[in-house]
Amino acid sequence: MSWRETLGVAPSTETHYAHNSQNTQKPTELGNCADITDSAYRDSEQESSKLLETLADACLGLDITPVEVKEALAPEDIDDWHNDAISVDTLAAFARSLVQRREMNQGKRPNHYTERATCKHCGPVWLWFSGEVLGCPWCWNRAAVRPIPRPCSVHCGECLHFERIGHPHLGHCTKGEPEAIAGLWDTDRRYCERFLPNPQQTNNNQPRPAKAET
Ligand SMILES: [Zn+2]
Repeated sequence: MSWRETLGVAPSTETHYAHNSQNTQKPTELGNCADITDSAYRDSEQESSKLLETLADACLGLDITPVEVKEALAPEDIDDWHNDAISVDTLAAFARSLVQRREMNQGKRPNHYTERATCKHCGPVWLWFSGEVLGCPWCWNRAAVRPIPRPCSVHCGECLHFERIGHPHLGHCTKGEPEAIAGLWDTDRRYCERFLPNPQQTNNNQPRPAKAET
């Protein structure tokens, strides 16, 4: 069945017939109200299961269920769907974006994020283009204190979480990253998904932070 058939006008026409026949057959006021409520309930159930059918198509081959996509849809999106203003392709794109967001939340790089970029707030990140950005999709991870996969290694000395001790180079990670007993050396390169660039760079012997990476 095509999505046009699924979303076609037939269901609402049927609904009107159903209302009409009940109105003529049950003249008493109370009964009438009850029937309308029942009928409205049945209609919304029917609509809901039709939406789930459509979402099942949209979710084909994706690691997400139609129910999960439906729960993520805004009421306006569902209205749009009722009004035929949202296609199954759009729903499929939405489902894909949900899967991607979920994977990113787990610190997984989407397959098409193949370029190395630098986010002002996240540091070195994988994106679908290279360059420097003021904000990025990984900012959601940063805000939720979730790991951010890196395209390159970083220096602890440039990180917000590096707490210096009474030593010119040594410090500790406030995020509990593994370190030697003495601590972490500020200029050592290491791969770190918890790194966040320190906006107040006070090191005097550091090259430019983001651009210095290789
Ligand atoms: Zn960012």
